[in-house]
Amino acid sequence: RKFVYDFTEGNKDLRDLLGGKGANLAEMTNLGLPVPPGFTITTEACKVYLDSGSEPAELRDEVSAHLADLEQRMGKRLGQSDNPLLVSVRSGAKFSMPGMMDTVLNIGLSDASVAGLAAQAGDERFAWDSYRRLVQMFGKTVLGVDGDLFEEALDEAKQAKGASSDLGLDAADLRQLVEDFKQIVLKEAGREFPQDPREQMDLAIRAVFDSWNGERAKLYRRQERIPHDLGTAVNVCSMVFGNLGPDSGTGVAFTRDPASGQQGVYGDYLQNAQGEDVVAGIRNTVPLADLERIDKPSYDELMQIMETLETHYKDLCDIEFTIERGRLWMLQTRVGKRTAAAAFRIATQLVDQGLIDEAEALQRVNGAQLAQLMFPRFDEGATAELLGRGIAASPGAAVGKAVFDSYTAVKWSRSGEKVILIRRETNPDDLNGMIAAEGILTSRGGKTSHAAVVARGMGKTCVCGAEELEVDTKRRRLTAPGGVVVEEGDLVSIDGSTGKVYLGEVPVVPSPVVEYFEGRMHAGADDADELVQAVHRVMAYADRVRRLRVRANADNAEDAARARRFGAQGIGLCRTEHMFLGDRRELVERLILADHDDERASALDALLPLQRQDFIDLFEAMDGLPVTVRLLDPPLHEFLPDITDLSVRVALAESRKEPHENDLRLLQAVHRLHEQNPMLGLRGVRLGLVIPGLFTMQVRAIAEAAAERRESGGDPRAEIMIPLVGTVQELELVREEAEKVIAEIEARSGVDLGLKLGTMIELPRAALTAGQIAEAAEFFSFGTNDLTQTVWGFSRDDVEASFFTAYLEKGIFGVSPFETIDRDGVGSLVRHAVEAGRATRPDLKLGVCGEHGGDPESVHFFHEVGLDYVSCSPFRIPVARLEAGRAAS
Ligand code: PEP
Ligand code: MG
Repeated sequence: RKFVYDFTEGNKDLRDLLGGKGANLAEMTNLGLPVPPGFTITTEACKVYLDSGSEPAELRDEVSAHLADLEQRMGKRLGQSDNPLLVSVRSGAKFSMPGMMDTVLNIGLSDASVAGLAAQAGDERFAWDSYRRLVQMFGKTVLGVDGDLFEEALDEAKQAKGASSDLGLDAADLRQLVEDFKQIVLKEAGREFPQDPREQMDLAIRAVFDSWNGERAKLYRRQERIPHDLGTAVNVCSMVFGNLGPDSGTGVAFTRDPASGQQGVYGDYLQNAQGEDVVAGIRNTVPLADLERIDKPSYDELMQIMETLETHYKDLCDIEFTIERGRLWMLQTRVGKRTAAAAFRIATQLVDQGLIDEAEALQRVNGAQLAQLMFPRFDEGATAELLGRGIAASPGAAVGKAVFDSYTAVKWSRSGEKVILIRRETNPDDLNGMIAAEGILTSRGGKTSHAAVVARGMGKTCVCGAEELEVDTKRRRLTAPGGVVVEEGDLVSIDGSTGKVYLGEVPVVPSPVVEYFEGRMHAGADDADELVQAVHRVMAYADRVRRLRVRANADNAEDAARARRFGAQGIGLCRTEHMFLGDRRELVERLILADHDDERASALDALLPLQRQDFIDLFEAMDGLPVTVRLLDPPLHEFLPDITDLSVRVALAESRKEPHENDLRLLQAVHRLHEQNPMLGLRGVRLGLVIPGLFTMQVRAIAEAAAERRESGGDPRAEIMIPLVGTVQELELVREEAEKVIAEIEARSGVDLGLKLGTMIELPRAALTAGQIAEAAEFFSFGTNDLTQTVWGFSRDDVEASFFTAYLEKGIFGVSPFETIDRDGVGSLVRHAVEAGRATRPDLKLGVCGEHGGDPESVHFFHEVGLDYVSCSPFRIPVARLEAGRAAS
């Protein structure tokens, strides 16, 4: 096995082995772009180290060989005292991970070589500053010394000198600072700062390996669902310096605007600075366009390179570069993160440019992004007090209580508060708070600052660099220019699309994408924005290629109509229990509590016309499309008065000697029907089998409604669905009764109503015996909510609030199985039931109506197992359509 690759040996397709950074450095090297020479240690080496606790035996020799080669090419040796080669050591996993050790610069500097660097650069101050940075970065990231200690020492040095920034310190000051820093290292790490350059390099490489299992890195992986066993690569790259004077500098650039997708010059540049200064947002950058004025040849070359990269990667790229005394060097590129809106715009722009085809365009967007575009925005007409304005870093409208540290953000959000995390600038330590917050506001840093990059990645609203707002994290307050003060707990609203920050809660308006889906905005209209047109086009591709049909879970005509506007191809689940709420509840109560047949019959007679009208409305709204009506499912206690309330009422009446016979009778019945585990009790088909007449009333209402729609010229396509079936016998009994009723109504109306009868598959036994059940069912609809509940033995109403956070933190699963289908467990039962059901009945229609039907990842699974449709809430229909298209292309 080969553990080390020179940049000339790799390519962009080797991300698994070389990490994203290493693979792209190799790709750029091979494109002939100016990349400082270097090599990459593979993720395989990291995995060996993490598994066994030590580096693979061959690694040292391989690194030595590559280093020797590098030294030969550069004409200097690592740490050589008169003419040192310096290198950076940078981590680089397959996916970029802000929680990991990033970079140690200037490796190779020591008491001996610092003079050599001074001579090389002709600048003694620069050499000592570089050495100072090395001891600081090395101390912090490799030896684990608290970074604040260095910052404090630096501040003290500045104060002693009366300097406002580190530029006010001269060579002698910095030399003293290096001594101070070395003392800090000695005291805190219990060892000397290593003077041997190779030891520096080896320790830094090992620190990168170790950082893979740092707490923040693990948290980030769980959040982003990145597997824990990938390991990271390590890039060793010869140093170039952006801090050699005004003709040097460093910057970050995008080949197009990552917020809007617009083509143009986007990025930040910082003159006379070293790499991390830009990302950290420590000093204020200038817009990249200013580089044209500062250094035209480098600017022109950069523009050329950006075009090369975009054409080569056929996508938006982001870039880190350094200019050393007028010479441009590329330090990194990757396919860049972007906002949801930009993703859609860029995908269609690239199609128009002929760089990608429509199938590829579908892969460039996803359902989560579409869902984000469907969030409401702030109402522009609303009057709200503007506190200030920052940079629109990640779109959306977020409202919450101001908090000024990550700990409080997490604490408050756990107790159900919505919070906005306000910081001067964020760093990886703020990750927890950023996850917990509705939105993030910073007063420092540009579009490429940590806050902006991470928020965009998380799809979280972010306004950064709001410099006019003074953030005082110690006193937990923010002061706006007019003197308005926001204290911890005060409500603020931030607009990540405009960068505006408001005091209080600003009302929100629907998104243009929703207006488009609602049919209130047409993609071809003059005022339709580019985003709506892009969404329209991408949805059209998705609809053309998808195989899965998409239906809605809806139980009233209004939801059905909206679902249809959003592209629903029918209703996959009408939960009839939702039709028995409000003043109808009492009728159900009467039905359940009936002692005699005639009491029961009168309750059913009262319910029948109401149900019939419900179905008429629903069939009309979905005319010509299938409507799956599920017979009554939930546990009875949901329709009965609360046992405690009722007991109190009876006791009170008793003590006051008031009449309470009815309540007492009710209480006795409620006691009689009380269940310890109602979810596993008298519900679903069991209700239909023990309450005489209930299901037949519902079937009658459906059949009569269908007949009436036919008579008025409609095209009703009803499907009757039986919930919670565990054995084919249950289904057969219901079927027998239902068929009698249907035959009677068909005979009376003289039409074949074409009603289909099927079942939900939501119990393990149903899935396991699906072959038998299919004998009596014309369709299956997987109820993955109950199926997940019963397969895992997780109470769906309780677990997410009780121990799921702990499970997620422990990494037992990356996401709740109630949100994304558990492929291995629940999924394998689904797969079995599909196969067994179709074996019995080849034309069996198959769908899913649990919450998973609208979850992007789960939609791909349902496509793979060959379902005919997914059914989800109306608002998730566009997402399901898009993901079904992505799954099929
Ligand atoms: C299900 O169990 O997945 C389902 C759709 O039914 P309900 O959520 O109504 O129990
Ligand atoms: Mg269910």
